[in-house]
Amino acid sequence: MIFVYPTKAHKRRHGPDGYRDYQSYKDWLRDEFTFRCVYCLFRELWYPDRHRAFGVDHFVPKSVDETLALNYDNLLYSCPWCNSNKSAEIGPLLDPCVEPYGEHLEVGEDGCLKANSADGEILIDVLLLNEADKKAFRKRMLSQLELLEKLGDKEKLKEYFGFPLNLPDLRRKRPRENRRSEGVARCYYVLRERGELPETY
Ligand SMILES: [Zn+2]
Repeated sequence: MIFVYPTKAHKRRHGPDGYRDYQSYKDWLRDEFTFRCVYCLFRELWYPDRHRAFGVDHFVPKSVDETLALNYDNLLYSCPWCNSNKSAEIGPLLDPCVEPYGEHLEVGEDGCLKANSADGEILIDVLLLNEADKKAFRKRMLSQLELLEKLGDKEKLKEYFGFPLNLPDLRRKRPRENRRSEGVARCYYVLRERGELPETY
């Protein structure tokens, strides 16, 4: 559900390799991280420019280690807010593929993010996750969800809290290698084809 951080460390489903530019990994990352920002959980669907607003985030910044710039396991998916607040100077943040963010961060009904650890506090501080606009938007989406559920408005629920329409068909991608090729058959595009895609998530 929205704003509930994963209780397990993210285990990568995809492992493409060999692209010459990091943007080519973007569709893989969209699917990998379910079309939302790993840091704040804001979704593509909530932005007027959808996925175009989102970007490939280098967990270890290029300026710190250039050899990881095209390493899929160093890439995350993030919203413009988190991407622009992250900078090389701040040092390493909590890696969502190592640490379950759910143990460190929690969202209250008022939209305010609460830290359950020092690392969680650093995430909130560095990425300005409790800035007034960010908090207000969270609260708005939570009440929107509650309202639509109460009304039983399935169409609107899907519009706000469903999957994007332009799911990438990862079977058509041609990376030089794929270390986790079995993940392709379970990409969201395939799930939709099989009628197994949930209406909302
Ligand atoms: Zn974000």
